[in-house]
Amino acid sequence: MDRQQEFVLRTIEERDVRFIRLWFTDVLGMLKSVAIAPAELESAFAEGIGFDGSAIEGLTRVYEADMIARPDPTTFQMLPWRGESQGTARMFCDILTPDGEPSLADSRNVLKRALAKAAEMGFTFYTHPEVEFYLFEQPVSADKPPVPVDQGGYFDHVARAAGHDFRRAAITMLESMGISVEFSHHEAGPGQNEIDLRYADALTTADNLMTFRTVIKEVAIEHNLFASFMPKPMAAHPGSGMHTHLSLFEGDRNAFHEAGSRFELSRTARHFISGILHHAAEITAVTNQYVNSYKRLWGGAEAPSYVSWGHNNRSALVRVPMYKPGKGNSSRIEYRAIDSAANPYLAFALLLTAGLKGIEEEYDLVDPTEDDVAELTNAERGALGFRPLPTSLGNSLNIMENSELVAETLGEHVFEYFLRNKRQEWTDYRAQVTPFELQRLLTTL
Ligand code: GLU
Ligand code: MG
Ligand code: MG
Repeated sequence: MDRQQEFVLRTIEERDVRFIRLWFTDVLGMLKSVAIAPAELESAFAEGIGFDGSAIEGLTRVYEADMIARPDPTTFQMLPWRGESQGTARMFCDILTPDGEPSLADSRNVLKRALAKAAEMGFTFYTHPEVEFYLFEQPVSADKPPVPVDQGGYFDHVARAAGHDFRRAAITMLESMGISVEFSHHEAGPGQNEIDLRYADALTTADNLMTFRTVIKEVAIEHNLFASFMPKPMAAHPGSGMHTHLSLFEGDRNAFHEAGSRFELSRTARHFISGILHHAAEITAVTNQYVNSYKRLWGGAEAPSYVSWGHNNRSALVRVPMYKPGKGNSSRIEYRAIDSAANPYLAFALLLTAGLKGIEEEYDLVDPTEDDVAELTNAERGALGFRPLPTSLGNSLNIMENSELVAETLGEHVFEYFLRNKRQEWTDYRAQVTPFELQRLLTTL
């Protein structure tokens, strides 16, 4: 038993913890949880806990249903909403096959493999997500439009708004679980909020995002509200993006930084951006995985629709945020397409491998633009080399299907499961007769 495992066992005894939840994430990014008694923990560390994976999205084929979850002791945390005494703790798990091999269906393992590739090239990968979501009045039902909790806008200070108390409680809880929050504010839509997590290595931020979504949902319920990470819940208001800031480090030096060059970006950063732009359309099915995601991407309101990059450009897919001379370690780029409903493990793995491909292949980088890309004509965009992002889930899947980069990064099992599952979503969607069609056509034809 290693020291981390011993620490967890000791803490559980000292704090009189009654339940330990083992957490893992399915291929679609849904959190799964199984509770064990403290007495089971030693063997969970040694051999893992067996479970039937066949009912979990993307985890197994029916004929190989047995799976093992082995908790990662470095992720041990108490769950504050389950009370102080006789409480509940959680750990994220790695999923193993019955032979003890890492499961090829485990999202966390997909990210670990991508991180190992970065490590071979000498890099550590850091991410910093800005998560947007809506707060609605309870009860929320799929049968009627949701009612936002306030009518505030970007950075508004809404007097006595439910959002203040909510954000305060949510951030206090996140901090108590070791998740640092850098920034929080009212976003542009009514009832829309944004909370930005401090940067950390990508595996930690992906785990943190899974915790974040759970905490936000729990705290909303405590405040008699409903929190939704749906990419575009209301046609007339902005969607909820999850802009993610990305950087590579070599040891403790930021590999994206070069003093004196344009935007203070190094050759490595420029190639990384070129890789991301080159493969953006291929990875969009994963960064924007729902039919509804494309209502955000093509709905304006500062969501990108074209592949371009720029400095202070909020219509660009990749933005280079404010850089401060002398603060080289904060050099980073912001990827703006990804939404708040993505599986962070798979999405981060693909952003990383797309960027690394750019470094390996030394792709050319198009010029940055400060124009509003959506306002240009097609001809102007063509001349500047700005291709559109996929316009629908169906379009995204067709592009992903032919991507070697995505197949290799996700591994065959996740790649095929994902395509199959999402094709079904697209087929189901296409069979709908929508209110739009009824309004336009029923009484006119
Ligand atoms: N909500 C916008 C989006 O869907 C982003 C707004 C912002 O710039 O923070 O991407
Ligand atoms: Mg925002
Ligand atoms: Mg942003």
